[in-house]
Amino acid sequence: MSTQHEQMLIADSLTYDVRNFRKKTQYSWNWSCQVCGDSATNPRKARFWVDAKEGSLVCHCFNCGYSSSFINYIKDYHPSHYERFKKDTVQINAPAHFDLDRLFTRKGIKKDDLAKLFYIDKYSDPKQWAKILLDKKIRLSRYNLDILINLHKEHHEKRIS
Ligand SMILES: [Zn+2]
Repeated sequence: MSTQHEQMLIADSLTYDVRNFRKKTQYSWNWSCQVCGDSATNPRKARFWVDAKEGSLVCHCFNCGYSSSFINYIKDYHPSHYERFKKDTVQINAPAHFDLDRLFTRKGIKKDDLAKLFYIDKYSDPKQWAKILLDKKIRLSRYNLDILINLHKEHHEKRIS
């Protein structure tokens, strides 16, 4: 069994361990972040994402900026599942960071989804918005950052007119 397959089985089995569990596609999941509590004011918020990358799984929270290999996340937040994991199959060089750029080409992701994920709908002031992206540790390619900047303009011009 490949380590990615093993990690996927663990992700699938977290249905009752996390809030608002959703399997988005064969290789991606979404639920409420346990690192930050996501959220004190709206229990339906689910900003923790898990995605496949280079034969492994990685995760990222759009609320607190937590970013990690899925294996380390399981170790810290679901230790009983980590026990089940065959540690000898763990790749030493498993990618540690969620690739946010991949969301831009994901099937089924709409402009509105991106606007929500990247806080565009919440912050109309471009300077304040840029600061939030920094605070939440959002790292993107120049190309995708330009897409976001255009979305930000579009979104808030629409509001004004
Ligand atoms: Zn979080």
